[in-house]
Amino acid sequence: MIYQNVLEAIGHTPMIQLNHMVGPKDARVLVKFEGLNVGGSVKTRTAYNMICEAEKQGVLKPDSIIVEPTSGNQGIGLALVGAVKGYKTVIIMPDSVSRERKLLVEHYGAKVILIHDAGNIGDCIDECLRTAKKMARENPRVFVPQQFENPANPMAHRHHTGLEILEQVAGPIDGFCSGIGTGGTITGIGETLKALNPKIRIWAVEPENAAILAGGTVGTHIQMGIGDGVVPEVLNQEIYDSIYIVTDDEALQTAKDLARKEGLMCGISSGTNVAAALKLAHELGEGKTVVTILPDTAERYFSTPLFE
Ligand code: PMP
Repeated sequence: MIYQNVLEAIGHTPMIQLNHMVGPKDARVLVKFEGLNVGGSVKTRTAYNMICEAEKQGVLKPDSIIVEPTSGNQGIGLALVGAVKGYKTVIIMPDSVSRERKLLVEHYGAKVILIHDAGNIGDCIDECLRTAKKMARENPRVFVPQQFENPANPMAHRHHTGLEILEQVAGPIDGFCSGIGTGGTITGIGETLKALNPKIRIWAVEPENAAILAGGTVGTHIQMGIGDGVVPEVLNQEIYDSIYIVTDDEALQTAKDLARKEGLMCGISSGTNVAAALKLAHELGEGKTVVTILPDTAERYFSTPLFE
């Protein structure tokens, strides 16, 4: 089979069972490895869907410029899609994200604007958004996908990631958990899984220093891609039944274990998700199935504590 371009190869990532990190009396834990996705993360899916939907609606025209404020992977995804489809792309990101993310966006030919993170990631993300909105006001060719508000973001997961999970597991799914950046992943996948099994346990996972759904305050943390300090508009707050909090140390250790014990080279938020999945698997017990996502590849984190 030959794909006409790389965009047609997005998705269809493998579902892999964890064997060495799960207790003998715990539920089976299955991870969907998005590090193997085109573009190296789950966010290529949402980038592609947001651009295709905007084209369908006529808001994205051949001479449009894609401008998006994003903490990284969404920018890489949009830069990739923009490159293939021929759109000029500008990504606005906090200067606290890993250097690799900035370099990858630039390598796809997009422009990067860095905004200083003075210690509150929420404030910094707000400033990224203000900058994008200002550019849109000043230039009618600018299109801002706004992943935090765009229904095409969770739609990508409802229609694609979620259905792939159902097909791959081909049996009952008793638990699902996910960290929240835009909330697209937990909302889209959660809605698809819950439609089939209304009793499924779904956990929203938050970094300890950005646990706003749990009523906590926002500081800095290393779980990049989640815990941005805002309650996103696309997040369906009815979809999860519990909130689970993960410390930076737990996320880091779990991400390292995933490489060392399971051969899964994934990012820090994958550690976050799996730390929660292991706990949920322990609560549900033998004979049950828990699914989570490994959102991206470890190769995006060489300059971070993951490789210290
Ligand atoms: N992990 C990483 C590494 C990410 O880049 C993202 C996207 N921001 C997420 C998790 C969370 O995904 P979502 O935006 O769908 O909540």
